[in-house]
Amino acid sequence: MEETVSRHFIERIIDSDIETGKNGGNVITRFPPEPNGYLHIGHAKSINLNFGLARQYNGTCHLRFDDTNPVKEDMEYINSIMEDIRWLGFDWGKHLYFASSYFEQMYAWAIQMIETGKAYVDDLSVEEIRSMRGTLTEPGKESPYRNRSVEENLDLFRRMKEGEFPNGAKVLRAKIDMASPNLNMRDPIMYRILHAEHPKTGNRWCIYPMYDWAHGLEDSIEGITHSICTLEFEDHRPLYDWFIDQLPGVHHPQQIEFARLNIDCTVMSKRKLLQLVTEKYVSGWDDPRMPTVSGLRRRGFTPEAIKDFCDKIGVSKVDSTVHYSFLEFCLRTDLNKRAQRRMAVIRPLKLTVVNYPEDRVEWMEAENNPENASAGTRLIPFSRDLYIEQDDFRTEAPNKKYFRLAPGKEIRLKHAYYIKCESYKTDADGNVTEVLCTYDPASKGGWTEDGRVVKGTAHWVSARHAVKAEVRLYDRLFNAEEPGRQTGNFLDDLNPNSLEILTEAWVEPSLAEAAPEENFQFLRLGYFTADKKDHTKNAPVFNRSVSLKESFTKEVLNHRN
Ligand code: ATP
Ligand code: MG
Repeated sequence: MEETVSRHFIERIIDSDIETGKNGGNVITRFPPEPNGYLHIGHAKSINLNFGLARQYNGTCHLRFDDTNPVKEDMEYINSIMEDIRWLGFDWGKHLYFASSYFEQMYAWAIQMIETGKAYVDDLSVEEIRSMRGTLTEPGKESPYRNRSVEENLDLFRRMKEGEFPNGAKVLRAKIDMASPNLNMRDPIMYRILHAEHPKTGNRWCIYPMYDWAHGLEDSIEGITHSICTLEFEDHRPLYDWFIDQLPGVHHPQQIEFARLNIDCTVMSKRKLLQLVTEKYVSGWDDPRMPTVSGLRRRGFTPEAIKDFCDKIGVSKVDSTVHYSFLEFCLRTDLNKRAQRRMAVIRPLKLTVVNYPEDRVEWMEAENNPENASAGTRLIPFSRDLYIEQDDFRTEAPNKKYFRLAPGKEIRLKHAYYIKCESYKTDADGNVTEVLCTYDPASKGGWTEDGRVVKGTAHWVSARHAVKAEVRLYDRLFNAEEPGRQTGNFLDDLNPNSLEILTEAWVEPSLAEAAPEENFQFLRLGYFTADKKDHTKNAPVFNRSVSLKESFTKEVLNHRN
């Protein structure tokens, strides 16, 4: 067992349950998404926790679709959720469940609740029920229908199920205590009428169970030992326990709450994410700017980086907000170890090495990853006609600290030669169209025997050999730490420059062979991934996953000031 001090509070609860022999020493957790959207990074935290605990304690983790609201649910979501969990590296094995397959059992238990006087049919509308609920300081009012006989309740509930009543005409409520200090205990609704087709059960049901009634029963049926949810359900726990306690003999799982993950500069509510998709602020749920698992994946995130992020932010009972840049930091750390280095020029400027023979090509050896010698080397073609980055040239050096290319300045071309700028050409408008350089044949590989120092190093590609590519530069989707805080509308904080598409990039020839989703470091430019959907050999597309520089520390410090 790991050191006790490093264990979080849920691990400590489980340790003690195992010690006392509770649940026969078993650990059965579940991840219970509602299939009404794609998974986001917050869900990844929950997945990492639930599947992670099961793995750690030799237990099992169920994937259960909490499909109790047919109106918003869809097969597309079910499929995407399964794909995302697998991609994150977790496996539910044979433990795939749907809450909807328990509808019959839940209905039988509801009948039992009515028979024991613990539930009643109410004709009040949901609005009326809400208005009679009272407040934290005032008790609620009892419904005039609260004292119906068991027979009448059984009859009405059966007829609700048979479809005799329209939506909203009646509900089934638990009969608990309208004066309870806990508002959740004031006769909560158990069933509502909803004439809607369900993705799994079709038109078989027109009454659907509410979350609080359904969730504990689902956990109980599956024999869940530790039912882990987010903090906002803490006040629901008495109700979770109450419902199960009313059904003698059923298994009673333990609900445990932890703080949900919040990240700045983004939104995680499924309603808002759906709005971004349907109103086309992004290209879809998997747009690389989305905080969804599929969006992060398309952005170039690795499952390892996401897992590392989830592990590092930890599990606690205290709500907090994590910086988006910490997520990027975790990706950068992972890719630094694994991504192969390549050269690409995304804003090209023609450079001619005037003293290099026109028909000559040299294949320069380049390391694939200086962090990992076993990544080996590759050969890059060098020739007279090159592209460099526009940024790497100025017509005049602006100051003494300028180490890039300018007339009279010498720099190193990575993996190749020292070159010196002799002159440049411009078009009629004065834009630089070509830089003319000479190279020093004695500097092959990027150093000379005379030991002279050049401070600047530029990346480049051979124009004749390079492959044209599209490069998509992504930035934060929102400009504000908390989108919508100023105006109340999160869309007001959308970053209008969150995507820049460069269609004239040139990449070294080996990148034509990149597989979709393969990660690279483009020297000096950042980490890039071949787009999962659009990248092909003939039309390469690379997304920038994250920049090279660590902005994390600086931003955290600024934030604290
Ligand atoms: P909603 O209830 O608004 O549809 P939700 O994000 O709660 O949204 P669910 O599908 O119910 O969506 O979530 C599935 C599981 O993921 C739940 O157990 C929930 O606690 C967990 N979860 C959701 N958001 C977060 C988050 N930000 N951090 C940690 N866990 C989360
Ligand atoms: Mg939820």
